[in-house]
Amino acid sequence: MTSRAPRATVGAMPRDSATRPPLVPAALPAERRALPELDDGWREARPGFRLEDVRARGEAFARRFKADGPVRGFRTIDLLPFPYPVAFGFWQAPPNRAKYLLMRNRCNLVEFEDWSGRARTLLVNPSEADLSARAGFFEQARRELTPFLTPEVVGRVDGPAARLRKRLGVDPAKIDFVTFDHLHVQDLRRGLVGEGGRPPLYPNARLLVNRRELETLQRLHPLQRPWWIAEALDGVPADRIVALEGSVSLGKGVALVWTPGHTLGNHSIVFHAGGRGVFAISENGIAPECYEPRASGLRSVREHAARYGVEVVMNGNALESALSQYTSMVLEKSIVDRGDCGGEIPNIYCSSPLVRSPLAWGIGPKYVIAPIDTGVIAMSLA
Ligand SMILES: [Zn+2]
Repeated sequence: MTSRAPRATVGAMPRDSATRPPLVPAALPAERRALPELDDGWREARPGFRLEDVRARGEAFARRFKADGPVRGFRTIDLLPFPYPVAFGFWQAPPNRAKYLLMRNRCNLVEFEDWSGRARTLLVNPSEADLSARAGFFEQARRELTPFLTPEVVGRVDGPAARLRKRLGVDPAKIDFVTFDHLHVQDLRRGLVGEGGRPPLYPNARLLVNRRELETLQRLHPLQRPWWIAEALDGVPADRIVALEGSVSLGKGVALVWTPGHTLGNHSIVFHAGGRGVFAISENGIAPECYEPRASGLRSVREHAARYGVEVVMNGNALESALSQYTSMVLEKSIVDRGDCGGEIPNIYCSSPLVRSPLAWGIGPKYVIAPIDTGVIAMSLA
């Protein structure tokens, strides 16, 4: 690919370093398009003004995005559930005294046509549970909750690559791109370079990642350490990593929208599923109703929204920038359609949705988005 789009506009957060150059030039090949019309909203330093500017940009983008049409195909692969503190998931609005709730990791396969007309495959959030279990936070949670569930035991369960092959009939070697909404508790080495002499799970895939996630990994802040795996990218060759400066449209019906806050390089995977509408994959809230708290089935969530006049309830484990995370959730809901799971609930396809469990009696979602499996995956043998 020799033709290059003009240098992408760099959407900087107000406190982004002005002196540090991006890890790669922020030029994009013709197959992808930058979305400065979204990212430029983050240049506004005054948070109240920024919120309304970003919301308006999201609404304008939504109309154009939907007009492009849906992705070719979309599939959902459920992975393992994991425990998570209620006080993080509902931040200032915990429903009761339960300490932990359960969320379920979920992985998605997207087949789409890029802007040069090629069919491409994107694998979203293929977390390796046993590697994630080694992150500081999960290591202590496991000791407290399920000391017998060691990473070795978890590692015997099929991971996303095996499920991809067995359930969808898709060869992991056919995956073009891998992305995560953010890199909390992720370790990319097994997927991209292999471990213990074994070949990588996705030998031909490149990682699409915001460059701020890469910069975070260069030196972790103490408040970040429990949530990050410092060695996550050790040994991964530079040509397997595509460092993104901000939001990008990957092709028809799919975009990575920079949604900083939960982490500085967080991005939401916005997709148009044929027959279902426009959705965003995100961990900014742990259930779709966290984006419309006044409609929630959980009283504490409704009351919190009314008392403080807020329109979202954040998943607040790390809050690298709380005001930005709130604004990012508003951006997400300004882009997606509403009502797939009922009412006026925004179509947020949580990357790790809250699920009911005996760990947290009385805490469950009122609105659940049914698994999304639409369109055609051409390479599937299933
Ligand atoms: Zn996270």
